[in-house]
Amino acid sequence: MRIDDRIDDILRAIDAAGRRRSLLPIEGAAGPWIRVAGRDLVNFCGNDYLGLAHDQRVIDAAARAAEIHGAGAGASRLVTGNPAGYEELESALAGFVGKDAALLFGSGWHANTGLLPALAGAGDVIFSDDLNHASIIDGARLSRAKCIVYRHADLDDLENKLKDERARARSAIVVTESIFSMDGDAPDLAAIAGLCGRHDAALVVDEAHALGVTNDGRGRVAGLGLSGAVFAVVGTFGKALGSFGAFVAGNARLRELLINTARPAIFSTALPPPAVGAAREALRILADEGEPLVSRLRENSVAMARWARAAGFETPDPPGAIMSIVLVEEARAVAAESALADAGVLARSIRPPTVPPGTSRLRLTACAAHADGDISRLGRALRTIKGAPNET
Ligand SMILES: *Cc1c(COP(=O)(O)O)cnc(C)c1O
Repeated sequence: MRIDDRIDDILRAIDAAGRRRSLLPIEGAAGPWIRVAGRDLVNFCGNDYLGLAHDQRVIDAAARAAEIHGAGAGASRLVTGNPAGYEELESALAGFVGKDAALLFGSGWHANTGLLPALAGAGDVIFSDDLNHASIIDGARLSRAKCIVYRHADLDDLENKLKDERARARSAIVVTESIFSMDGDAPDLAAIAGLCGRHDAALVVDEAHALGVTNDGRGRVAGLGLSGAVFAVVGTFGKALGSFGAFVAGNARLRELLINTARPAIFSTALPPPAVGAAREALRILADEGEPLVSRLRENSVAMARWARAAGFETPDPPGAIMSIVLVEEARAVAAESALADAGVLARSIRPPTVPPGTSRLRLTACAAHADGDISRLGRALRTIKGAPNET
């Protein structure tokens, strides 16, 4: 088969399933408001939770880093891509999440696909939450360890699987997000850490949607006093920290392992200096003066859920800034997306294969920069889509 024909077949199958995705062109910057096709909409789908991507201090830090160190790092960290400032950022990150050391990665995708294969291989076992992010799933696959998926945030299922499978494996990893990226819920990390302790498994926690958001911005691992019980923390800069890049934090031994064996760290160009400069300043703001931003984000997240409940949806207050309104059918989620846009609100529908079939939804994210009127506009817009009962 010619490759073009094969591609056409694949795209036709996606169309037949009603799942063709497309890129949404936006005009200008993606802040709390966003211009799409000539219309200004309130943006409820970004991950720039604290507005730091548009904070002048962060922008200036990125520009300064570019002036001094250039637009690009020019090589992998192991070659010449280790200019001054990179290790200082790593130490600051490690301290922030309560670990001894950290290593930067090109993105959260690189971090998870580098970390899991570095920690586990054939003969080992990785226990992974059913709703973990695609980068965790791919990292587990790349590792060649046995991957055992446990029911979402289900401690009994995890414990049973640990009892059945742990003893047969050499080493064991349990990996979970601390705020789930699609459902926005939070697993019981302390209990998971307890299970890991009892069954000799190392706990890896991806804090992509918790860092800068929960527990005064420290994330859930440090915020819950679990830094000692969690083996490795993954954090990203692309969400609340407003730029791009990621890190893995753990003990000094883990950092050495990653420098020597994590393929995305070894074979990919180091983060560009402007991203490192931006992340350093964003972290400084978060640590030194983040309180008003983080509290405002919290107020907006709770207000978002309150307005959704007033519109008739059963939405508990989210532990982070992500609220998911499950509309079940794909067509309904897509129709809701366009009804919200008509009402001046940008929220994107999330459908299979990103989420399991029968759980198509609107995924809404609050940000600190939303004004009260922005959230009430969402509330009014949600009323227009409230139809049949049974939504959650
Ligand atoms: C976004 C995300 C990633 C990927 O991070 P990037 O830096 O955007 O590549 C990893 N894990 C989780 C849970 C995420 O939500």
